[in-house]
Amino acid sequence: MLDQLPELIDPVVFAERTSHLVGSVKFQRMNRLSEFLFDKEGEMKVDLHFYKEGKVPTIEGHIEGHLNLICQTCLQSLPWDVRKEVKIGMVQTMEQADRLEDGLEPMLITEGKVSFPGIVEDEVIIALPDYPRHAEACMQYTNVEFVEPEKSEDEPDNPFSVLAKLKNTGAQ
Ligand SMILES: [Zn+2]
Repeated sequence: MLDQLPELIDPVVFAERTSHLVGSVKFQRMNRLSEFLFDKEGEMKVDLHFYKEGKVPTIEGHIEGHLNLICQTCLQSLPWDVRKEVKIGMVQTMEQADRLEDGLEPMLITEGKVSFPGIVEDEVIIALPDYPRHAEACMQYTNVEFVEPEKSEDEPDNPFSVLAKLKNTGAQ
C-alpha cells in the first residue's frame, strides 16, 4: 500500500533539498480531472525526483495509473492506462520558460506552496487523448443492463437486429 502524498508542497524547496516523492494520489483529489472520468475510483502512482539542474528547480520521474474515461461517442466507461514520463522545469517568468533546455516542460511557479495533486493532475490531463472514444464499436458498452439477444445457430451476427430490438422496446 503506497502512502498518500501531501496536499501542499513548496516545489522549489523540495528541489533545493533534493527530494524524492513516491506514493499515490487518488483521483478524488483531482477536481479538474473529474470531468474526464467516468468514475473517480483509483489513483495515480507517482515517482518524482525534485532537484536542481543548474539553477533550474526540476521535477523528473514518471506517473502511471488506470483511469476510466468517458467515451465521447457513447458516454460510457472507457478504460485507459496512463504512463507518462515527467520532466518539468520550474520558472518564474515566460522569458525563463523560453530559455529552458529542450525536453523540459515549463511550470510557472509563484511564491510558496502549490497543490501537489494539482501538479500530478496537470500531467495526467496532458497525457489524455483529445477525443477519448472506444476503438471498436461502442455498442457492446452502451448499456450495462443491455443483454445481447441469444443467437440461434443459423442467425447471422447482425448488429441491426440489436438496434431494431432497442427500438421496439423503446429502450434508449
Ligand atoms: Zn464508446
